[in-house]
Amino acid sequence: MEVNVSASKLQNSSFSMYEEQEGILTRKKSINVGLGVPSVNCDNIASGYKIQDATLLRDCIASAAICSFCRKSQSTLQLFQRDYQREGLAECLFLRCSNCHHETELKTSKRLGGVGGGAHEVNRRSVLASQKLGQAGLADFCARMNFCPPVTKKSYNDHLIQIEKAAVEHARTQMQDAAGRLSDLTKINILTALKMKMEPKWLK
Ligand SMILES: [Zn+2]
Repeated sequence: MEVNVSASKLQNSSFSMYEEQEGILTRKKSINVGLGVPSVNCDNIASGYKIQDATLLRDCIASAAICSFCRKSQSTLQLFQRDYQREGLAECLFLRCSNCHHETELKTSKRLGGVGGGAHEVNRRSVLASQKLGQAGLADFCARMNFCPPVTKKSYNDHLIQIEKAAVEHARTQMQDAAGRLSDLTKINILTALKMKMEPKWLK
C-alpha cells in the first residue's frame, strides 16, 4: 500500500525532509521513520491527553447519553467540575443526572501509583515538559491557554526531584547494562586468545 507523501507530511513537520529524499511513503518506510500509516478507514480508541473545550464535551454528553442509573429517556447528563478537588492540572469533573441526580466521576488524569495513589500523571508530565520555562512560565502558558493553573511552586520542585531521581536511576541501569556487555565481550576475547594459544602450531 502506497500513501501519498503530501497528505502524510501534515502529520509531522519533520517529515518534509523525508519527502525530499524519497518522494513516496510506503508502509514499510513510514514505520522506519517512526510514522504510523494514516488510518484512512479505521477509527482508533481515544488515548493520550486532549485539548478539549469543556463546553463542547458537555454538550456532546448531554445530547448523546442518558443516565445508566435511572435509565429515564428524559434524563440528561450534565457535566460539572469540583474546583476544590483540583490538584494542579488534574481536574475532578463529574456527570450529574438531571432526573435522579446520580453522580459519576470523570477524572482528567490517572495517578502514577505509590503512597496515597501517587502524583497525577498530567502534573508530572507538565513539569517535565516545562523545565526550561519554570513554574512561572508554565503558569503563564496555562493562563493563556485558558487551562486551570498548574501545580504550585513547591509541588513543581517536588516533581523536579522525582524526575531527577528517575533520570539518575535510568542512567545507572544503562551504565550497568553497558558494563555487563563489556564484561561479556572481554571474557569472549580472553577465551578466544587462550584457545588460539593452545592450538598446536601445525594447526595454524
Ligand atoms: Zn438518572
